[in-house]
Amino acid sequence: MYFAILDWGEMMKFGSYLYEAKKVEGFDFDMFRLKPETGRLGIPQTDMWNNIACFGDNVTARAHPDWVSESKLGLAVRGNNNYLLHWDILCPTVSEFREYILNYIEETAEQTKQPIFLNSWHFADHGHCTCKRCTKLWKESGLEWLEWRKKIITEFVRDVRDRVKTQLIVAVLPDPANADNRFGMDYEALSQYADAFNIVLFSQNYATAWYWEMLARAFRRIFKKPVYANFYVWGPGDDPRKIPTVDQLLKVSVRAGRTGIDGIIYLSDTVDHMIDFQKAAVDRVELRDELKTWGCQPVLDLVTRWEKIVK
Ligand SMILES: [Zn+2]
Repeated sequence: MYFAILDWGEMMKFGSYLYEAKKVEGFDFDMFRLKPETGRLGIPQTDMWNNIACFGDNVTARAHPDWVSESKLGLAVRGNNNYLLHWDILCPTVSEFREYILNYIEETAEQTKQPIFLNSWHFADHGHCTCKRCTKLWKESGLEWLEWRKKIITEFVRDVRDRVKTQLIVAVLPDPANADNRFGMDYEALSQYADAFNIVLFSQNYATAWYWEMLARAFRRIFKKPVYANFYVWGPGDDPRKIPTVDQLLKVSVRAGRTGIDGIIYLSDTVDHMIDFQKAAVDRVELRDELKTWGCQPVLDLVTRWEKIVK
């Protein structure tokens, strides 16, 4: 049950995070990318957490170019190498879009009774957004620029909270030191509204696990709410030679898990690729044995759980 995630510190939980509306055996919960940053809408799921990207939205950016976030270093679009974005990002003060996405989130939670998992709910990056709308609102506010940005984002998450009666899990980009100035994230204020935080630790390579462990430790310290680490198993269109190895994934899971975080969420494009990962993990008997002294038994117990399912 989803509310089990609130038993902070009691037990680690493990989730699957898929581009397919399908559950995978062997996890405590499953998440569906209902509205990814491509902007295409899926069908809300009544037995999975529903993931919704807010301002990252290619479809809407194409339909409303004047809604795209602006900065001195250019627009928040793919191809602007000052930011290297993977999708186009809208200005967060477009009132029509704000209302649309808040309604969409509310309806999804109401229809499905499932937790809402929020992505891309903040400013695109440093220097955003300097559009006419934002400049006017900022000047009228009388606040310092960075303070105004934090206020805009906190108010958006507060408004989401007001509409979502189920659990609200908020995805956080892995920048513990500068997320306030870059994205308008006010960690303390957000903690009032989110039930849990998911730290996006995506990489096609976890060769140097030390860094990922450090980030997990940083966010464990920052948030007084449940914290999940989000690792990358297989993304859409990935070259199979360029995904993380199973050894890397097991090691990084144990190293992040031992920092005291509350769980790990694994991203895969399809169920099949997730099952491939589960099988490969089960097969790494020697490594699993070695990892027993690394200080995170729950990850090893998860793989033991998979032994019975993925024959
Ligand atoms: Zn703007």
